[in-house]
Amino acid sequence: MGIEMNQFENFTASSLYCGKCRAAMPVRERLLLVLPDKELYDYLCTGCASSVGSREVTAGEKMMAQAMEVPHSRRGRRAPISLHS
Ligand SMILES: [Zn+2]
Repeated sequence: MGIEMNQFENFTASSLYCGKCRAAMPVRERLLLVLPDKELYDYLCTGCASSVGSREVTAGEKMMAQAMEVPHSRRGRRAPISLHS
């Protein structure tokens, strides 16, 4: 089960095949459900707004994603951040 989960988590396409549109369509990520250890996201076709897939993000994966995003958000921020250290 663990291996299957990891394979599923690699499923981060920004466009998915939509059966209604009969084409690979750009998708919109929507937060579907928040659980204590993971979050479920729903992927909606931007063409017909039908659900074309879903993804679950574990707490550990989310922390890694946030850690990777930090350098990008800090780069454009000039205001000094004061930390209580
Ligand atoms: Zn569609």
